[in-house]
Amino acid sequence: MISRKVEENLGKSSWIRKMFEEGAKLKAIHGEDKVYDFSIGNPYFEPPTAVVENLKAIVNDDIKGLHRYMANAGFQEVREKVAAAVSESTKYPTPFNNVVMTVGAAGALNVCLKTLLNADEEVVIFAPYFVEYIFYIQNHGGVPVVAETNKKTFEPDLASFEKTITANTKAVIINSPNNPTGVIYTAEILEKMAAVIKAKEEEYGTTIFVLSDEPYSVIRYDNAEMPHVFDYFENVIVANSFSKSLGLAGERIGYLAVSSRSKNLELLMNGIIFSNRTLGFVNAPAIFQKVIGDSVNDTVDVNLYLERRDILYNHLDSLGFECVKPQGAFYLFPKAPIEDDIEFVLKAKEFNILAVPGTGFGCPGYFRLSYCIGIDTIENSKEAWTKLAAYYNM
Ligand code: PLP
Repeated sequence: MISRKVEENLGKSSWIRKMFEEGAKLKAIHGEDKVYDFSIGNPYFEPPTAVVENLKAIVNDDIKGLHRYMANAGFQEVREKVAAAVSESTKYPTPFNNVVMTVGAAGALNVCLKTLLNADEEVVIFAPYFVEYIFYIQNHGGVPVVAETNKKTFEPDLASFEKTITANTKAVIINSPNNPTGVIYTAEILEKMAAVIKAKEEEYGTTIFVLSDEPYSVIRYDNAEMPHVFDYFENVIVANSFSKSLGLAGERIGYLAVSSRSKNLELLMNGIIFSNRTLGFVNAPAIFQKVIGDSVNDTVDVNLYLERRDILYNHLDSLGFECVKPQGAFYLFPKAPIEDDIEFVLKAKEFNILAVPGTGFGCPGYFRLSYCIGIDTIENSKEAWTKLAAYYNM
């Protein structure tokens, strides 16, 4: 009765949800504080006070016309503020015309993919990947093609990347800081990826777009630099949001910013604005455009995430779990002590630990832990982790 494709995808998409629901069941049996739920990446902290105060001020201000339809790209003054913030971190200035306000980073990615893809064109993603990419690409008739990462660094494996690009490749999605690995792509890797893309574009006479998914861009640790993609790629679009940076995931507010160096810029922007409208978003939520306009550079307190990363990483490391130390986002992606990550995650559940198998990210043999949870939960989970490690004779 429903679409075959949707029905088929329903079965594939739900590892995070599955574990989250298992968690709810376990909590009902053992009590909230006895279950260590690392399954879901929902921002834990409230938005910064400045954001809440700004929201109150806007609501009380009685601005006339605030709730009407607007230009599909969003309020110009908000686009100008976002463009100014983007321009600060790249040597290529970004005028407001290149910015479109979107329904989160997810909305931004769907808008870009709708704008770019012809039927059956390919989009390269890197495993482990955010599983929704598969569905976003398929939403617009595209074909996801998976390239590998180097398992020591989780940066793209360039040889694998090169092999996945064909005459039919239209775009590449990258995500740094990364969900699920927490890795931030260095200038060196971006430079090398740009060289691969350029060579392939010349070989095939094509244009390949980089879609840079950056909702974790401000959540970075240990002074990690984040090189700006505009400085490395020419045909590149940033998809970003305030879901994680300001703890506003439920408000669905984000933006996309297109590099001034992109080919056929005017046509591209017109296409993007058309897609934002006709995907049914029409425009990004009005009140929250205004709210973030004054908080483009604000963030939740990143130190709170850092504290959690350190407690969890250090404990797992001391037990012998192999894990790349995350430089950003709020996830760990350790190697499972056995080959079968699903079996491991089910065993962990017996110790009241909820994790998501790497299989759910196209990367079997690993598991993801989200540490945007209460610090007490992390502290209290230590003993269960120790017992789980002992079970596997680690
Ligand atoms: N991209 C990645 C890698 C994510 O982890 C998420 C959310 O978890 C999104 C995109 C979607 O973000 P948004 O809430 O801005 O749509």
